[in-house]
Amino acid sequence: MRDQLNPIVEKIALLKTSHPANIAVQCFDPEYFGSLDSGLQQRLLDCMRSGLDNPDSEMGCYACLVDDYEVLRPFFAKAISRYHGIDDQSHHVSDWTVPQGDMLDITKFGLPALSLRIRVGRNFADLPLTSAMTLQDRTSLETRMAAVFERLQSNPELAGTYVSLTPGHPNQLTKPEYEKLVADHVIFKAMDADPYLISAGIAGDWPHGRGCYFTRDHSFIVWVGEEDHLRIMCMKKGTKLKLVLDQLHSALQIIERSADSPFARSNDFGTVTTCPTNLGTGMRASIHLNLPHLTAGGSVDRVKEIAAPLGLGIRGMGGEHTPIGADGTVDVSPRARLCITEGEIVSRLYEGIGQLIEAERRLASD
Ligand code: ADP
Ligand code: MG
Repeated sequence: MRDQLNPIVEKIALLKTSHPANIAVQCFDPEYFGSLDSGLQQRLLDCMRSGLDNPDSEMGCYACLVDDYEVLRPFFAKAISRYHGIDDQSHHVSDWTVPQGDMLDITKFGLPALSLRIRVGRNFADLPLTSAMTLQDRTSLETRMAAVFERLQSNPELAGTYVSLTPGHPNQLTKPEYEKLVADHVIFKAMDADPYLISAGIAGDWPHGRGCYFTRDHSFIVWVGEEDHLRIMCMKKGTKLKLVLDQLHSALQIIERSADSPFARSNDFGTVTTCPTNLGTGMRASIHLNLPHLTAGGSVDRVKEIAAPLGLGIRGMGGEHTPIGADGTVDVSPRARLCITEGEIVSRLYEGIGQLIEAERRLASD
């Protein structure tokens, strides 16, 4: 075993020099690694697989088992504190109240109703994470969720339809139906085209066990079997961010009560997610904002420059790694997930929208 692992340790040593931005590689400590038994060494390398296959990764690691963050804590705590910019003694606390206590209404900035979305990632404590699931685990997750969705039918706000990507499933989507739901931002993109997800094992057995539940108006959506077991979200064209936050909070509590098994939580890191970037709240709150002047010429550089110090990330119209809209519409969301409360994330988005729209208007009037 030791002889087989040595070349990997040597490869990591070389990557440390060639890829200073790969967090997992930078946080790999050969001394700690050497102190582990062969089983744990393999477990750590499994978590780093994606970042070693794709050295240009930013995070470079995913958890495979719910307790990886505890069992491999000397590695993960370092990587987590480096990515999230927190010290390794920090302790995450959840709180869905909004500090300002108001509705966070974007009409205050003279904006009309826009597309608002808040999602959280959640994982069941009694299953391997999507990076380590067997085909049977994936199928049993889908079966488990079918029972949960059945229980939601009696709730007028959450009653909806489940569609599956599993071949032969009674609710299996046709290709055109799937593509329409992707274009409508309801279901996730094909995972078998993403080299990071493939290396990590997260795209394994695609498209088995994958599917999506949604209400008729698409205001409440649950993804099954994407990067986390569940991505639970509320999405609507509206102006009040707090309404979307409150809807998600109450839906989440109902889902957790309807499931027979609890979601995985860590004492220090909050919600356990497959990717360490999502730990804590597991939450991304976003808006589709039209910024034609800031993105003139199709470049996102200027908007990213303004967004970064506000703690905001910019994505494209199809989400991460997709181009921005031809009309200059971008997806804006706070980057922080850990050691920030749910309420603070949504407030940060609200404040950021105000700043971005002001910068856009300043440029328009120049
Ligand atoms: P996440 O990783 O947060 O789940 P992605 O960046 O992968 O999100 O995007 C997933 C889908 O959600 C994409 O179709 C994206 O366009 C859509 N989306 C994200 N934010 C919004 C929004 N505010 N309004 C409408 N769709 C959105
Ligand atoms: Mg994503």
